[in-house]
Amino acid sequence: MPAYDYLIIGGGMTADYAVQGIRSLDLAGSIGIISNDTQPPYKRPPLSKALWKGEPVDSIWLHAAKDHAEIHTTTTAKHLDRQKKLVTDEHGRQYRYRKLLLATGGRVRTLPDDVQGIIYFRTYDDYERLHRLSRTKNRFVVIGGGFTGSEVAAALAMNNKEVPMVFPDEGIGARVYPQRLSRYITEYFLTKGVHVLSNRGVGSIIRTGDTYRVRTTGGEEIVADAIVAGIGMLPNVELAQVAGITTGNGILVNQQLQTSDPDIYAAGDVAEFPNPALMQNIRMEHEDNAKVMGEHAGRNMAGSTAPYIHLPFFYSDLFDLGYEAVGLLNSTFQVVEEWKEEFREGVLYYLHEERVAGVLLWNTWGQLDPARRLIAESGPYTSGTVIGRLPA
Ligand SMILES: Cc1cc2nc3c(=O)[nH]c(=O)nc-3n(C[C@H](O)[C@H](O)[C@H](O)COP(=O)(O)OP(=O)(O)OC[C@H]3O[C@@H](n4cnc5c(N)ncnc54)[C@H](O)[C@@H]3O)c2cc1C
Repeated sequence: MPAYDYLIIGGGMTADYAVQGIRSLDLAGSIGIISNDTQPPYKRPPLSKALWKGEPVDSIWLHAAKDHAEIHTTTTAKHLDRQKKLVTDEHGRQYRYRKLLLATGGRVRTLPDDVQGIIYFRTYDDYERLHRLSRTKNRFVVIGGGFTGSEVAAALAMNNKEVPMVFPDEGIGARVYPQRLSRYITEYFLTKGVHVLSNRGVGSIIRTGDTYRVRTTGGEEIVADAIVAGIGMLPNVELAQVAGITTGNGILVNQQLQTSDPDIYAAGDVAEFPNPALMQNIRMEHEDNAKVMGEHAGRNMAGSTAPYIHLPFFYSDLFDLGYEAVGLLNSTFQVVEEWKEEFREGVLYYLHEERVAGVLLWNTWGQLDPARRLIAESGPYTSGTVIGRLPA
């Protein structure tokens, strides 16, 4: 039976950065990874962006886990015995650990009436399948108007595909961007050839051979060669839950990234952690959090006790529009917009309970740390006093 000083469940970006963190303090301890992906760790963000703009596939692979850990791919961890410090996989194989990291991330949400063949976009295999189809097929229905849906729709449109895009909100990214900006992005997608069908759900999908017939709740019927859905994810908390570890909106951790069992840590998309700047628990489904929190968890597993106080940033690229953001971006908050050039370059402040909860740096770069400091301030801020706090 393999026995590891450090065992990691999940083989995503968080796992790879955790290996880096462990190795920065412990050069010799054995590291094992149980991953149900078919591939060793890779960067997910390029799957919906850079790879469609000609970036080579080789650029996505991460190396720390490959170089320093034993990776068991295509393997699901099924049971965690905390008393015996033992994990059992789907084949009945067992693994001992001294310290365990739960880096189980999330799985895609699926449509209530699922149909075989829909690509719920999240993994390298999903990218490969979609990319292969895009070489021979022409019309791709994209379901979802959030990060993944909008990025995949833009990627396909940039590759000259016909892209009807169906989502329930009024505009693209309507839950994140204020209404005016969401409208602008939606118009922008239309000018780029995306056939935006907002305020609509999916009524039914019928597959006949290789063809899909999608009926929207708005009454349109679309015939398509493939369907891609990006309708959110669910954190993979069940293994922890069944083992009696405390969960909430994710696996709950303290500032040292320990779960309710001090020898078990959690990090990345699956972890709900206290953030001192926001003075609340948050869970983040973003790359910077996977990297920094993963590495931090690795170091703490290897003996450090430093608190995780980082406020992660995130970013997106849609055609030639791009941004960085930090904190909580919730379009129901009061959003104060300060544009240098309307919808092309500016800073947007998200105010909540008289504090700055989030900052959207729209085509504005190099302002993440000042934005973080602003979010950590106690305020009070109003639309009048927040303007000009960061250079637009
Ligand atoms: C298409 C796409 C584009 C993105 N673009 C951006 C972007 O532009 N900007 C940004 O900031 N973020 C982006 N993200 C988010 C970012 O990639 C994620 O936050 C990050 O990859 C999360 O890493 P993770 O390792 O925590 O979780 P995951 O990537 O979900 O990895 C966890 C892995 O663990 C596996 N697993 C779960 N349970 C078990 C088990 N019991 N046994 C074995 N394995 C298990 C899962 O299947 C998964 O493979 C994007 C994500 C996607 C999917």
